[in-house]
Amino acid sequence: MQGTEQPIFLLPHIARMTGYVPGEQPKDQPFIKLNTNENPYPPSPLVLERLREACDGNLRRYPDADAAEVTRRLSELFSLPADQILVGNGSDELLNTAMRCFVGPGDTVVYPTPTYPYYAKLIELQNATGLTIDFDDSFELPSGLAAAGGKLTLVANPNSPSGTLVPTEQLADLAGTVQGLLLIDEAYVDFSDGGCLQLVEHHPNVIVVRTMSKSFSLAGMRIGFCFASPEVTAGMRKAKEHYNVGSLAQVAAAAALDDVHTMHTNADRIRKTRSRLTQALGELGFYVWRSGANFVLARLPGVAAAELYTGLRDRGILVRYYGEPRLRDCLRISVGTDEETDQLLTELGEALRTLK
Ligand SMILES: *Cc1c(COP(=O)(O)O)cnc(C)c1O
Repeated sequence: MQGTEQPIFLLPHIARMTGYVPGEQPKDQPFIKLNTNENPYPPSPLVLERLREACDGNLRRYPDADAAEVTRRLSELFSLPADQILVGNGSDELLNTAMRCFVGPGDTVVYPTPTYPYYAKLIELQNATGLTIDFDDSFELPSGLAAAGGKLTLVANPNSPSGTLVPTEQLADLAGTVQGLLLIDEAYVDFSDGGCLQLVEHHPNVIVVRTMSKSFSLAGMRIGFCFASPEVTAGMRKAKEHYNVGSLAQVAAAAALDDVHTMHTNADRIRKTRSRLTQALGELGFYVWRSGANFVLARLPGVAAAELYTGLRDRGILVRYYGEPRLRDCLRISVGTDEETDQLLTELGEALRTLK
């Protein structure tokens, strides 16, 4: 088949869409990778220890479909009953499952932008309608989200790419005023002073989604979890792939949850480096939004950030650049180790000098 021909077997709404483009994962060059918000520190040593023990002939068996060991630990850690918890193959899978359960063709999903670009793809896959409301430059929660009347309303908190955190009370208000479900994506919550888990108790329409990819340093294992009312999780349980989380991922997740201390230590280090990075970027002339995540969004008004992105890339540093108009003078930079951050700042200074 010629590349330009319509792929006739695809459903029309899928034929129309373009695929999600994940952040670059280069295999060849040794880049300093500050483009996908991976944790620069390794996971708890317990994770590798237990994974090694688990690499045996029992891998011939299917994993536990309920991820009971992981769920039990989450239940203890967050003081919520097991029937309000669901474990997924990364939080992306749980976002996907939620869409499949609650959003049908033609339904409206409401969310503030700019945010995590994957939401738009999930909405397209359902042949649903995305209704976006722009954040203004303060990145405070825009009004009009509830009035837009979505079957589902999505808020990433802290948001990406801004890193900004909306107060829990505002999301509690939103939960009380939306007609449908409110899904709060807390991928970065461990790097902030926020968290909306308590809303799940009083609001049967709230789903809180978290991940072990960022704060727990386990992006490669693909583990996410969500909290919601027993009715919502029961529905999602029916829709998920039954063996969605592999045995090794379950072992890794349980081990990481047995040593939450390591995660908190790493998150604290990242917060300290984030303050220093924010300050230093300010001195280079950038505006940096107050971040509750393991990255910052930095704007140099009037400067084409594409050139800075390329300049940094040529110098061996990968950051995230978004082509869209609102972010044309912005870079999203993950918080690396202190050494990586120093190198970023040096090279960014150089790249800026060659621009002028
Ligand atoms: C990284 C990220 C995710 C995906 O996390 P996984 O658990 O690795 O699938 C979800 N939402 C946001 C906002 C993210 O930045």
